Amino acid sequence: MAFVLMKIFEEAPRRFDRWMNILTLGKLQAVRQQIVSELIRPGATVLEIGCGTGTLLLELASQDVKVTGIDNSQVMIQEAQRRIAAADLSSEVEVKKLHALQIEDDFEPGSFDQIVSVLAFSEMSDDEVDCLLGQCRKVLKPAGELILADESEPEGFMARCAYHVYRQASRLITYLGLQAKEIKKGNVFLKLLYFAIELPLMLLAFLVAPPVTRPLRGIERRMRRAGFCPWETRSFLGGTLKLVCARATTFDDIDYEVALLARDFDPIRAESEAETSSFWRSVRAFPKIVILQYIFRSIPYPTHARLIRIGNPGRKSPVLVTTNYDLTVRRVCRAFKSIDCFLLVAPAGGIDVWCAAGGGRFSIDSIISILKTSRVAELVDHRRLILPQLCANGINLFEVRRRTGWSAVFGPVDAKDVPAYLQSRRRTEKMMRVTYTAKERLEMAVAMWGSLSLRYTIFPVLIFGLAAAPRFIVIIATFALLISLGCFIIPGKTFVQKAGLLFLSAMAVVVAREMLHTGRLTGFDLQLGLLCFAGAYLVGSSYPSYTPLWQCGYSKLFYGFPNLRLEIIEERCIGCKLCDQVCPVECFSLADDHKMIFSEPGLCEGCMACLVQCPTDAIVNQVADEHQRLSQCQ
Ligand code: SF4
Ligand code: SF4
Repeated sequence: MAFVLMKIFEEAPRRFDRWMNILTLGKLQAVRQQIVSELIRPGATVLEIGCGTGTLLLELASQDVKVTGIDNSQVMIQEAQRRIAAADLSSEVEVKKLHALQIEDDFEPGSFDQIVSVLAFSEMSDDEVDCLLGQCRKVLKPAGELILADESEPEGFMARCAYHVYRQASRLITYLGLQAKEIKKGNVFLKLLYFAIELPLMLLAFLVAPPVTRPLRGIERRMRRAGFCPWETRSFLGGTLKLVCARATTFDDIDYEVALLARDFDPIRAESEAETSSFWRSVRAFPKIVILQYIFRSIPYPTHARLIRIGNPGRKSPVLVTTNYDLTVRRVCRAFKSIDCFLLVAPAGGIDVWCAAGGGRFSIDSIISILKTSRVAELVDHRRLILPQLCANGINLFEVRRRTGWSAVFGPVDAKDVPAYLQSRRRTEKMMRVTYTAKERLEMAVAMWGSLSLRYTIFPVLIFGLAAAPRFIVIIATFALLISLGCFIIPGKTFVQKAGLLFLSAMAVVVAREMLHTGRLTGFDLQLGLLCFAGAYLVGSSYPSYTPLWQCGYSKLFYGFPNLRLEIIEERCIGCKLCDQVCPVECFSLADDHKMIFSEPGLCEGCMACLVQCPTDAIVNQVADEHQRLSQCQ
């Protein structure tokens, strides 16, 4: 439970250690004490990966060792710095915010005698663990030591099964708790309504979403492959917490087993585009594709993060990035068929680019991760990334350059335009804007139908019985199709009004037909009318949240955030046009003085891309304080 809840406790760094100790029955502290008193060499230079709030750093500093701590969380680093300053140990301990996979960039080879890490490796994917072990080997001195304490699977089949059942139950409770936290505070009715509506989708998303932390598997074997010689393993909490000590191998240690492991290990695991979209892979994935990816578009569907070679790329070929949402990866590969390039599939929780970047799952950390694990830098001579434009709402171009050393530009919104963009090296107006073609609207209709049917069919079944279910599903499908295809021509200011008009037309037909044939309305007609009314309202009210062009009132109801109100501070604007280049709906235009003006505020759908990218903070959100207050009280 403690390991699953770790990410939640990180939001309250001052209470992090206390909670982790309570939930691990004090074993975590016991592990730390063993590291400090038995395993750390006096006078050693030590690196702690994932130092968190600095608990271990402080204990190490009292043991006459020179210690450096790194962590990727700004709040954790701030808390560690506060505690170190309070203990007056600032001269003995150094802490820095650094992604674990960048230690080879920040420290010279052979910088440390020992590396320790407590509960950091379990937050990484297998590829990241392998990559980090390799980097640890590099920054350690010859015969240096790696001391790793982390969550692991217990030995024995029954113990493993029991552990996974318990772990999944803890994950589910945590997941639902986090969802509830997002809803407006203090409104119990809204929370209940939200759960009544969203539970089926939440459960589906829970089943396919990758866990944030996972127990380490075969860590000793991985260590050997990375050039370590594990010499001791200690188990705690029935084998779910492991302490492994390993020494960097020297020439004398290289044995047959290590050599064999190394031979099978290809550090640059690039998959060809043909493998990615092979027939058999599609056949194997077919049921999942149809059911999960098209009908339930709003749930994550992860594929593994990797490097894909498309065509026959060389050392000058472009390097493009996308997220590990399976549907996106397959579509992008198809769209890039005519070009030679490298495609980096970055870890982003299996979510599409726009949502992942907006929700923080596709971030600069994802880019660091895929750059390091893929080792693409060894395959090309340049250092230039092409990012999908729709990630502009979460990834700042200047930050990418500062933190990775790679320059980055935004490519077209639609992957289909990438070959033309690469040929001309410029994005046309059309390439920068989100379109909403009939085909895309049809896809949205299918997604909306799947999601609304799954969430709401239970209510007509409870009221009218099981027979109402197929009627309701057909009604939702009909309204979703009509609204999607006719959204630009059906009269009405809002989508509820458009759906209302369709509902009234349908009712007029039903009433006229019944009156002509039987001269009266039956109970069945009444039921049909109520189902149509509910279906029309649901489709009309939730339609905007399925489109890339309109704001969603549904989210506002539950999450309470007001619409963005943007303003450009003229004196700060340098006319770089970046805001216009990332805006998916053309809200900006250039004034005579070469400064940008917010000419179409009505089109703004609040993606925040312009705010994230503006290099001079010339764009301000007038309701930023309210956003801040709401996010703090949630
Ligand atoms: S991004 Fe900022 S500085 Fe650049 S044109 Fe837009 S408002 Fe002006
Ligand atoms: S103006 Fe609105 S739609 Fe355009 S980038 Fe800014 S927030 Fe997004």
